[in-house]
Amino acid sequence: MPDICLMGGTFDPIHYGHLVVAEEVRQRFHLDKVVFIPAGKPPHKRNQTISDAQHRVNMTRLATSSNPYFEVSTIEVDRQGFSYTVDTVDQLRRSFQVDKIYFITGADAVLEILTWKDVEKLLSMTNFIAATRPGYDLNNLKETLKSLPDPFIKKILPLEVPALSISSSDIRRRVREGRSFKYLLPESVEKYIYKNNIYKNNIYVSS
Ligand code: NAP
Repeated sequence: MPDICLMGGTFDPIHYGHLVVAEEVRQRFHLDKVVFIPAGKPPHKRNQTISDAQHRVNMTRLATSSNPYFEVSTIEVDRQGFSYTVDTVDQLRRSFQVDKIYFITGADAVLEILTWKDVEKLLSMTNFIAATRPGYDLNNLKETLKSLPDPFIKKILPLEVPALSISSSDIRRRVREGRSFKYLLPESVEKYIYKNNIYKNNIYVSS
């Protein structure tokens, strides 16, 4: 049975930090596939403007197309209602018929994991890889996890990734301010942002 990894994120926009994390994890854990899942309607971003889901899916497809181990799932974008990770993992685990499944996301998002829907069920189905930027204080994460039962704590693995000093919020700010964001993401995504005039006029609540 294949071992796969799910890469969840808003990807607004996807950038080299995300791609480096995915490739690093794929190699390190000897995985057969990494499935990128642009968040549909993130429950924790109710009051926040995020770009149209189709744009985020298109940018994710462009960014991942050159890697044969990467694919993109629109499962969350296609589903009605809020995108809960537990439902996504459950559905994909069945459809890929996999044994082991990993879920990669940012350590900041994982910090909130105790507020996520059915967290214990989620952690019984998957191992989490919490990707952090350099200099990130892991104590916050360790403190948060303390209230989880022991077997679940072991299922969340922090991973420091130097390339994550790139951030989506910085890229959005650069576009808005008319500054260059070249070399922070694939050229195809850069062109897509310019062509579709994304981020130029939107005022974002910073994430
Ligand atoms: P976020 O709050 O936008 O991101 C938090 C931090 O993590 C940001 O610094 C972000 O950097 C980074 N990040 C996000 N995804 C990453 C990834 N795959 N790899 C490395 N860094 C990443 O978080 P989000 O993107 O909206 O949500 C992350 C995932 O958690 C999504 O799949 C979402 O559906 C899930 N989630 C589920 C629930 C729930 O089930 N109740 C609640 C919250 C989140 P960038 O801004 O540079 O990406």
